[in-house]
Amino acid sequence: MAKDNPTGRLIEGEIQAEDKLLDKQLRPRSLKEYIGQEQVKDNLKIFLTAAKQRGESIEHVLLYGPPGLGKTTLAYIIANEVGTNIKVTSGPAIERAGDLAAILTNLEAGDVLFIDEIHRLNKVIEEVLYPAMEDFALDLVIGKGPSARTVRLDLPHFTLIGATTRYHLLSGPLRNRFGVTFRLNFYQPKEMIEIINRSARLLGFPIEREAAEIVAHRSRATPRVANRLLKRVRDFVQVKAEPRATLALAEQALNQLQVDPLGLDDLDRQILRVIIEKFKGGPVGVSSVAAALQEEAATIEEIYEPFLMQLGFLQRTPRGRTVTQAAYEHLGLAVPGEQQTKLV
Ligand code: ADP
Repeated sequence: MAKDNPTGRLIEGEIQAEDKLLDKQLRPRSLKEYIGQEQVKDNLKIFLTAAKQRGESIEHVLLYGPPGLGKTTLAYIIANEVGTNIKVTSGPAIERAGDLAAILTNLEAGDVLFIDEIHRLNKVIEEVLYPAMEDFALDLVIGKGPSARTVRLDLPHFTLIGATTRYHLLSGPLRNRFGVTFRLNFYQPKEMIEIINRSARLLGFPIEREAAEIVAHRSRATPRVANRLLKRVRDFVQVKAEPRATLALAEQALNQLQVDPLGLDDLDRQILRVIIEKFKGGPVGVSSVAAALQEEAATIEEIYEPFLMQLGFLQRTPRGRTVTQAAYEHLGLAVPGEQQTKLV
């Protein structure tokens, strides 16, 4: 599972402590319940049916995309559709080769092993994983020094499902050992509304169409964020003793959370402002932006940039990040190019 988010920011896609409870309530359990990602679902259905027809366990699956889009959910669904057990762990949780050996030797044939944040596995562990994925074998080194020898243990035919927010950080050999790779994309507004309606139903309160629309609009096209915002809206409904979530109530809740009309929070705006004010709109390297904001470059890269790029506010170029005209406009700042045109 993804690491707890120490900053506790509301809009981040990364998992927070209270999400775990929310996930239990709201996580879809079958492909039918899983909204959107139509192409992934279509391909997955064929892939699952073909394996079933051959009577084989499914090949290893790699899921990638920004946090909060449904990778973990999909891993549970795959196990559910195949009717097997799922064991869940994460890259940073597997510290030593022995940890992985213990997990692998406890699997049963057909089981799914889900490794979240698989890009954070260390190299030594990756080496153990290669023969496990390819030959369903575990090479154990017994003894030390010149008398050390390797013993090969057979493993049951399991399916590894890896999830990552950073596909390019995965080593080539690891990537190549996955039979299929699915990329999850940000959700369409229509799909977000569907997700919000479903979640509201499960959380036990009615939500008006306009209220669902405004929550969808501010959720960064990310179900995890939508669910979090929705939970705050529910608090308002409850405290104000209203029978349903109206637009006015949803607006009140969202404004209090300081999520702007496009779903940007403070750090999003700071990232754009820093690039504009300190680096003349870019290009600038992500590490310089991170240093200026005293944030981790990985947080900016994995959590913030994908959505800013999706909005067309930020571009990644070979020379670094640049801010677009749309971002200047959103922040209410003068676009440098336009000023020059006016001066001429
Ligand atoms: P990831 O592993 O990509 O960070 P999760 O699978 O944990 O994301 O998804 C976060 C939450 O968002 C889930 O608990 C679930 O409630 C909701 N969710 C994700 N994808 C969907 C979907 N396609 N349909 C409905 N709800 C979804």
